[in-house]
Amino acid sequence: MHLLNGKMIIRFNMKSYPLLSAAISIVEWTLDCEKDRQVADKIEIYPLNKAQFGNNENKLLAEKGFGNCLIKSFDGIDYYVSIAINTEKCKKADLSEREISSIILHELGHILNEPELKIEPTLEYCFINGLGFNKQILNEIREYNSIAMETYADYYASKYGFGKELISTFQKQDKNFEQKIGFKKIRINKILNQEVLIGGFMKNKNTAGNIKKSQCLIFQK
Ligand SMILES: [Zn+2]
Repeated sequence: MHLLNGKMIIRFNMKSYPLLSAAISIVEWTLDCEKDRQVADKIEIYPLNKAQFGNNENKLLAEKGFGNCLIKSFDGIDYYVSIAINTEKCKKADLSEREISSIILHELGHILNEPELKIEPTLEYCFINGLGFNKQILNEIREYNSIAMETYADYYASKYGFGKELISTFQKQDKNFEQKIGFKKIRINKILNQEVLIGGFMKNKNTAGNIKKSQCLIFQK
């Protein structure tokens, strides 16, 4: 079902998922920036059981968190993004409408407020560029990138006034489930300190495919 311009595309029966529908409405009322509204109709929202994952690994990972963001297609100009919300888990953890909205905004942040990432000096990259490979440096840069991606996505939710709710979802994830939130202290501190982290729309265009893949692996870490 394709809704009005400026609205996200809902891929489920709204009556079957009243909480998720209400959370999406809150997000749509919240997005007051023209730029954000223009891209809304490229974004599809699914409950987890209706989302299509390219591989089982991503699906298994998605089951561990509240939300997940995947690029369905991107050719440098046009794109479609799907956001899957694990409605069952949201219910089990007793998330409120606004808490689910904060998760949707965080996932939107992965698209609309991406940081500039550092190049990851993988073995292949070092070989091609005649550099010495160092596993520890690679891991440090990967961690730096992961923190940047998560904190910039968090900022997108907190700039719209959902920081408190997002922090509450971190606590509920940790309290209720085995999969814990990664970089929790750093993320909470940045939200509480209202640190301004301004990225851009799909900043990492050249490597969007690869980055989105790794991004969905670390969602809600
Ligand atoms: Zn994330």
